[in-house]
Amino acid sequence: MQLRVLGSSGSRAPGFHASSLLIDQRLLLDAGTVSIALSLDEQALIDDVLLTHAHLDHMVDLAFLADNMLGMRQQPIRVWGPQPVLAMVEEHLLNNRVWPDFTRLPDQDRPVLQYCPLPLQGPVEIAGVKISWEQTNHPVYTVGYLFETAENAFLYSGDTCDTEAIWKLGRECDKLRGAFIETSFPNRLETLAIKSGHMTPAILERQLAKLDRNDIPVYIFHMKQQYLAELHAELLQVPHPCLTVLQGGETYEI
Ligand SMILES: [Zn+2]
Ligand SMILES: [Zn+2]
Repeated sequence: MQLRVLGSSGSRAPGFHASSLLIDQRLLLDAGTVSIALSLDEQALIDDVLLTHAHLDHMVDLAFLADNMLGMRQQPIRVWGPQPVLAMVEEHLLNNRVWPDFTRLPDQDRPVLQYCPLPLQGPVEIAGVKISWEQTNHPVYTVGYLFETAENAFLYSGDTCDTEAIWKLGRECDKLRGAFIETSFPNRLETLAIKSGHMTPAILERQLAKLDRNDIPVYIFHMKQQYLAELHAELLQVPHPCLTVLQGGETYEI
């Protein structure tokens, strides 16, 4: 799988884009940053969007991707996610008030977007990739995903604080070649991190012990950029042989 990091921040500022990962050019994982990171032609290649949850920094660019793709595609873009997540997108973003309902535009028979709720239990296959998921510890319904091809796999934590099931999924996967894990706040803000369902480097360290996979690289995303220097210093102290703090714009082959 080719993985392109379109955004790796927990918010937006010049040079810092909200979280999105493009898989093999056509499967978009979360929609925090699409419309300003990809050309229109690249956007038109996206057949499937998979959401971890419906917080704005993970779905906002679904609004502009849909708008940009009016008249650009023959088939709808399939928007995948757990049913409660898609229900929130429908109710709060693409609700014909905040933004148009692009599942009915330009017309109901050939819309730009099509909702595809995930079944209660996985795995499913999307864009040729086998995908499994587990709910994480975040204030709204959120899942993390495991992506598998015949040879390789990677884990994506989604937004989460201290949790269990997603680490078991990764720990037991023999093909695991990497894990993308969120860390948002520095250690001195642990109370805020727990309240908002995010991690600090100290909480991350406890999750890495549960994942128990020192054989794979770990990529950190979702940093709040006002704490970036502190986070870098504290993440350097986390004992893992291959830990990288993402900047956005990286491409990996997994
Ligand atoms: Zn969130
Ligand atoms: Zn977030």
